[in-house]
Amino acid sequence: MPPPPGMDPSQLESFTELLFHTPRGITGHIMLFSFFIIAVTATPIVRRRAFEVFYFCHHLFIVILVAMLIHVKLATEYFPYLGAFIIIYAVDRIYRVVRAYSSQARIHKAVPHNDGVVEVRFTAQMIQPLPGQFVRICCPSVDPLQWHPFTLTTVPGKNNTASIHFRTVGGFTREFARKLGCSSYANTVGDDADAPQFSASLDSRCSLRNDNAGQTARSLRIFVDGPYGAPTQHLFNYSVGVMIAGGIGITPFLSAMKYHLTKSIAGESTQLRRLYLIWSVRDLGALEWLGDLWEMLRVQEQQGRFADVYTVVVYYTNTKDGSNLPVKVVEDSPWGTHALDLESLSATEGPVKVPDNLPSCVQVYLYRPDYCKALRHIASQNSKTRIGVIGCGVKAMNRSVRLQLQAISGSIARDHSVHYEFRAEHF
Ligand SMILES: Cc1cc2nc3c(=O)[nH]c(=O)nc-3n(C[C@H](O)[C@H](O)[C@H](O)COP(=O)(O)OP(=O)(O)OC[C@H]3O[C@@H](n4cnc5c(N)ncnc54)[C@H](O)[C@@H]3O)c2cc1C
Repeated sequence: MPPPPGMDPSQLESFTELLFHTPRGITGHIMLFSFFIIAVTATPIVRRRAFEVFYFCHHLFIVILVAMLIHVKLATEYFPYLGAFIIIYAVDRIYRVVRAYSSQARIHKAVPHNDGVVEVRFTAQMIQPLPGQFVRICCPSVDPLQWHPFTLTTVPGKNNTASIHFRTVGGFTREFARKLGCSSYANTVGDDADAPQFSASLDSRCSLRNDNAGQTARSLRIFVDGPYGAPTQHLFNYSVGVMIAGGIGITPFLSAMKYHLTKSIAGESTQLRRLYLIWSVRDLGALEWLGDLWEMLRVQEQQGRFADVYTVVVYYTNTKDGSNLPVKVVEDSPWGTHALDLESLSATEGPVKVPDNLPSCVQVYLYRPDYCKALRHIASQNSKTRIGVIGCGVKAMNRSVRLQLQAISGSIARDHSVHYEFRAEHF
């Protein structure tokens, strides 16, 4: 090995000795190697494909700490700083583990929806969550060591009943669906899912009251850890909120809308006075995931309430189906040019279905949304306001919204005195 620049060759032996045969050299290498493994396994490609590898490799920080102590020759002057850090970390970890494994929840119902999505309703004792927050769920009969994050789609009220909607994408979610008795989803995988289409009403599906599937799910033990903060909770600090979702990214907004509507019905005011939901779906069956929200909105609409509070625009992006659907071409709509005629669609028998009882605040358009146009329109309707925009979907969608907002923010501020603030969440 050549000597490093500036080193006398005669010192080489002592240099290699120092690097490879002394505690300081060896621990230095251990730390370097551990940092390297942590960095490599934290890359998106590894995290997405092998989450456990990423998760457990991150614990190499313990090896790094021990190696660091030896590296500094157990220098006692560092101990108070390190000790304080280790104690805080250990107390937090132990508290979280004890809290999590003592937080048993009782499942009431599991509802298989379209497109490989399962809804689980349960009761659990937890600190009152804010809409949009998430919990970590462990199902010991699937794996006692795995904790998976899912957004609460119903924020528990007085009766402590909460819900989550999860999409079957991999090992845990598939096995969890099977254990819940929704075994038709056990083999579905992500976007290629060929899940059965359910057209019966919500309560007759996988009801846990009287069928075997129900028994299976009700007797299933789950632990619920949380709640944990998420961007959607900040929506309630604005007077106007825009929620931009893609696919299963609707979950935080489902709880936000239900929470806002429940508060409004109870006459409790929140700062948020207007909500827009822009949701892109590849399967219109996804509309059925929000069955209880549509029902709540419809009841209020029949009483003539909150007509100008909620605007829901759904974009059906599956262009393969587009040409066979009843579509009205609209020139002057701020939301899109190809509006789906929902009444005709419900009346005709075809593979593409929408729930029958959609409230009238829901409009469906074909193709991808033009975020610039939509956000300009929202600004023109709400001049002189600070508007909160939350995106929840794939990274590319969030990036596109962020870039389009940046492009129009100057002109919107000038023309309407509107200031948009954007936050993104992706699963
Ligand atoms: C804050 C947050 C909220 C979420 N809310 C929802 C929701 O409401 N509905 C929903 O369907 N999905 C949600 N997800 C995604 C959900 O956690 C994953 O789909 C699920 O963990 C996949 O596990 P799997 O073993 O079935 O799939 P895998 O094929 O193992 O993983 C699929 C994806 O999930 C990630 N993942 C796997 N295990 C974990 C874990 N323990 N913690 C974090 N990410 C993991 C992987 O990196 C990968 O990107 C949320 C994720 C986060 C971070």
